[in-house]
Amino acid sequence: MFLKPDYLIDGDITDIDLDRLAADGIKGLILDLDSTIMAPKSGIITDDVADWLARAQARFAMAVASNNKNTAYLEKVQQVLTMPIIFRAAKPSRKAFLKLVLDFDLKPSEIAVIGDRPLTDIWGGKRAGMKTILVRVLKTMQEPVWKSRMRNMERIFIKNR
Ligand SMILES: [Mg+2]
Repeated sequence: MFLKPDYLIDGDITDIDLDRLAADGIKGLILDLDSTIMAPKSGIITDDVADWLARAQARFAMAVASNNKNTAYLEKVQQVLTMPIIFRAAKPSRKAFLKLVLDFDLKPSEIAVIGDRPLTDIWGGKRAGMKTILVRVLKTMQEPVWKSRMRNMERIFIKNR
């Protein structure tokens, strides 16, 4: 199924097991921004995420690819992250992902795309020939009930394919 991730994490990004990814031959990680590593528009990285990012950056090539287009927000994000950030990535377009393949100097199959949205993050990563990791939105984020219901429906849909 075109939206089925290689790894379905029953938790947020900080629950991803880095040892397992390394054992599976993954050498690069491309992260979604909003809801995956920070609350949308917040520009704030929580301590838990900062700790996970630091551990990941010590072992993997890393970058962020976001569909966000807000320049002021991008500047905020650039101050809190120490990795390349691509805004206006237009996921599920492969463009940003294929550019990062060259920057990382890795094979697409050695890179995993991590995100909370099947239709952008997962589909785009698959189109680029990369591994894909679907995470839940950050535990520290509060969101309206209708939104979490929609997300859960998306996940059920994927599980049943
Ligand atoms: Mg997101």
